[in-house]
Amino acid sequence: MEIKKLIRKNILALTPYSTARDDYDGQIGTFLDANESPFENGYNRYPDPRQLVLKERIGMKRGIRPENMFLGNGSDEAIDLMFRIFCNPGQDNVIAIAPSYGMYEVAADINDVEMRKVLLNSDFSLPVASLLSAADKNSKLLFICSPNNPTGNSFLRSDIMAVVESFDGIVVVDEAYIDFADSPSLIEELPSHDNLVILQTMSKAWGMAGLRCGLAIASEEIINFMNMVKYPYNINLATAENVTRLLDEPVADRIAMIKSEREKLSARLQEFDFVKRVYRSDANFLLVKVDDADELYNFLIERQIIVRNRNRVKLCDNCLRITVGTPVENIKVVDTLSTYKS
Ligand SMILES: *Cc1c(COP(=O)(O)O)cnc(C)c1O
Repeated sequence: MEIKKLIRKNILALTPYSTARDDYDGQIGTFLDANESPFENGYNRYPDPRQLVLKERIGMKRGIRPENMFLGNGSDEAIDLMFRIFCNPGQDNVIAIAPSYGMYEVAADINDVEMRKVLLNSDFSLPVASLLSAADKNSKLLFICSPNNPTGNSFLRSDIMAVVESFDGIVVVDEAYIDFADSPSLIEELPSHDNLVILQTMSKAWGMAGLRCGLAIASEEIINFMNMVKYPYNINLATAENVTRLLDEPVADRIAMIKSEREKLSARLQEFDFVKRVYRSDANFLLVKVDDADELYNFLIERQIIVRNRNRVKLCDNCLRITVGTPVENIKVVDTLSTYKS
């Protein structure tokens, strides 16, 4: 696919901001080029706008080459950049599955881009034909979240790849919850599919939501455009340092615990009469259909247990989304629920 044909003309013609350090790679020198304070306090210098060291560290953990990686202030920055690079406001449109993550639509609204939402099949599987038939010549992006928030399921790899292979634009596959899934990432499809962009994040399994660090993984060509358009210093030095420090935490053990707790919590929830269904989940949360979601949500809030009420979301009527917590937290939810309607 000719990616350049999809990119906005103003972006193709853009001269990016050149930062102070672009002409000098050395670590040692007398740096009088950026009007920084010369008094060392650990943070008086601007950070590396290319984030080379951090990308290498994250890339080693996740099997990604730095050239194929964009780092942003959360995945949300990558989502917004997709609109700014590919979508002409007031003219182009994007397609997304529904129900799904709310930020795709917020970013579309902010960028004045029409969002075409395509409802999942009733069994939450991917509506491949409907997604493709929603497209016209102005459709630039198509968002698929797998495992999906809030339904919790992964889509069949063959269904996702059928969309990637037939859509004449960029397919963004959001893998925020991929570490909790049994199926692997689509990263290995990247070399043979240049219209595929994968989003991952340090916010969920990697335990760094407070640091704000999200990844886009794509062809070098797309990553170069993202790097051109982003704010030069979008990842601050405190974030880079702390992400590096926390990369060595025992993430695999914690993922294994969350997955086993997820199955235990699911089984316990299904024992309650007011629970109609617990959907199977490939993520770190459970979507739970109950007889009265608003009432149960308020009951839990009054007992200082905060879950997400998805009752007003299509296909999720009377559903609550409950994050899997520590064993103690999960017991607390179950114990509290056992005092509801009894
Ligand atoms: C939580 C979540 C993210 C992560 O967003 P960050 O900005 O990286 O914290 C991305 N996509 C989905 C679907 C999510 O649920």
